[in-house]
Amino acid sequence: MTKPQDKYDVIIIGAGMGGLACGTYMAKEGMKVLMCEQHSVPGGYCTSFKREGFNFEASLHWLNGCGEGGWIYQVLEELELKDKIEFIQLDPVRRIIGKGYDLTMFSDTQRLEKELSQMFPAEKEGIHRFIADCITLVDKTSEAIMLYMGKSYGQVIDSLFKDAKLKLILYSLASPSWSAIFPMFQVGWLSHQDYYFPKRGGARVLAYLFSDAFQMYGGELGLGKMVSKVLIESGKASGIELAGGEQIKSGCVVSNADARLTFLKLVGREFLTDDFINALLETKICPPGFLVSLGVDLDLKRMGFGGEMITYNPAQSLEECSTTDPQRSSITFIIYSLRDPSLAPPRKHAMGILAVLPYDHMNNWGVEKDGGRGKQYHELKQKVADELIASAENVIPGLSQHIVCRDVATPLTYERYTLNTRGSMMGWILSPGDTASLSLMGSRTPIENLFQAGHWTMPGGGVLPTILSGKNAAELILEGKK
Ligand SMILES: Cc1cc2nc3c(=O)[nH]c(=O)nc-3n(C[C@H](O)[C@H](O)[C@H](O)COP(=O)(O)OP(=O)(O)OC[C@H]3O[C@@H](n4cnc5c(N)ncnc54)[C@H](O)[C@@H]3O)c2cc1C
Repeated sequence: MTKPQDKYDVIIIGAGMGGLACGTYMAKEGMKVLMCEQHSVPGGYCTSFKREGFNFEASLHWLNGCGEGGWIYQVLEELELKDKIEFIQLDPVRRIIGKGYDLTMFSDTQRLEKELSQMFPAEKEGIHRFIADCITLVDKTSEAIMLYMGKSYGQVIDSLFKDAKLKLILYSLASPSWSAIFPMFQVGWLSHQDYYFPKRGGARVLAYLFSDAFQMYGGELGLGKMVSKVLIESGKASGIELAGGEQIKSGCVVSNADARLTFLKLVGREFLTDDFINALLETKICPPGFLVSLGVDLDLKRMGFGGEMITYNPAQSLEECSTTDPQRSSITFIIYSLRDPSLAPPRKHAMGILAVLPYDHMNNWGVEKDGGRGKQYHELKQKVADELIASAENVIPGLSQHIVCRDVATPLTYERYTLNTRGSMMGWILSPGDTASLSLMGSRTPIENLFQAGHWTMPGGGVLPTILSGKNAAELILEGKK
C-alpha cells in the first residue's frame, strides 16, 4: 500500500476518540502514522475544560464498556493501557423527574421492571418485553441491531405501551424520532452494571490516555492542523492537503471527521456516485446540544442529589415532549463533582445542564449574515441559558442565586470545535426503512484506501462504539498490509 517515497503509512484526519483509537492500534503495530487535528487539543467531543477552578465536561455523561471484560476494558488491555486509568462506577445511573413521577434507575433491571410495573400495572407485560428486548440488544448485539436498526424509538414505544405518562418517562431517554437503538442500549446496559466516568478529570483523561499512548508508540500528532483535501490518485486516496496548501502523502487515509465534510468537501463529488451523495445529503443527522456549565456554591449532596444523570421533563403531554422551546424542553443535568469531588473547589460543585435544541433556533441563533457572532448571538445564548437555569430551579430550588461560574455552549459552539455538521451530537440517525444510508455505515468507503473511524460510521454514536470503529478501521488496514 505504501509507496517507497511516502513518509507515512497512514494519515488520520481528526483526533476524536475514533481517530485516536485507530491511530493507537496502528502505531502499536509499528505503522508510521500521522494524525492531523484542527483543534488545539485531542479528544473531539470527548473532552473537558477548566474555568475558575471548576472542571466541566464538553459532552460526556457516562461511558459504557469499562467494567472487567467490557469492550473498552478489552481495548485498554490490548493497548496496554488498562492500569493507566481508573473509572468511577455509576449506580444509580439515572433519575427522571416530572409532574407526578420521580424514578431512579439503578443497575438492576429487575428493580426497574418492578418499579415501573408498580407505577403502571396495566403496562406490566409491555414493560417486561421492553426491558427484555433492551437486554437482548446489548447481549446479542448484531442480530438485535438488525431488528431495531430501522425502527424509531417512537415506533417501538407505541407498539408496546398505551399510557401517556409511561411514554413521557421513556421519551426522557431519547426523542421518539431517534433510532431505537440508542435508548434501548441505555436500558440494556443497566443489566451489565456498566456505566462509568473517568476518575480525576473526566473525558479529557481518556482522550489524553490515548493521545499519549499513540505518541509513545511512535505516532505523530499534529494539533492545529486543518485538513482541507483528501488527495486522490487513480481513484485511490494517496494523502492529504493541509489548509496552508502543504501536501503529505500516505499509503492510506482514515477520516475521523464529519462524513459530509469528508466526502463532499475533502474528497469531492466528482469521485462519488449520485446515490452515495444523495445518501449523504438525505440521511438525517442527530440534533445538537446546548450546554450550560455552572460552578455553584449550593450543598447539592444535602439536597438529595448524587452523581447520576438527572432528567427534568416539564412536558405534561406527548405533544409537548418534542418541543424545542427552551422554557419547556426536557433538560438533563449532571453534578460532576458529586462523582469526583476533585472537579470543583471545596464546598462547591461543577454541573452541566444540557438541552437538545435545534441548530437553527431563532434564525440560526442570531448569527450575522457573514457568520459573525455579534451582540444578538451572545444575548440570545445567555437568554436561553437563563431559561434552562430557571427550568432546572424546579428541581434545584435557588440555583440561579448560587452561581459562581458560568459557561455556555450553543450548537454552533459544538460545530466550531469539532466540525460536526450542525453540531450533530452522534452522527447519523437512521430512519425506519432507510436503506440508502446503509452505504454510509462501516469503516470502508467507496474510495479505495480511504477509511472512516468515528460516530459517522454507525447508527447512533457514543464513545464506546466510536472507539470500536477506530479499532475496526485499524484492523482492516493492518489486514491489508499482510
Ligand atoms: C452533548 C453531547 C453529549 C454526549 N454524551 C455522551 C455520553 O454521555 N456518552 C457517550 O458515550 N457519548 C456521548 N456523546 C457522543 C460522543 O461524545 C461522540 O459520539 C464521540 O465522542 C464522537 O467521537 P468521534 O471520534 O467520532 O468524533 P469527534 O469527537 O467529533 O472528533 C472528530 C475530530 O475530528 C476533528 N476534525 C474534523 N474535521 C477536521 C479536519 N478537516 N482537519 C483536522 N481535524 C478535523 C475535529 O476537530 C474533532 O476533534 C455526546 C455527545 C455530545 C455532543
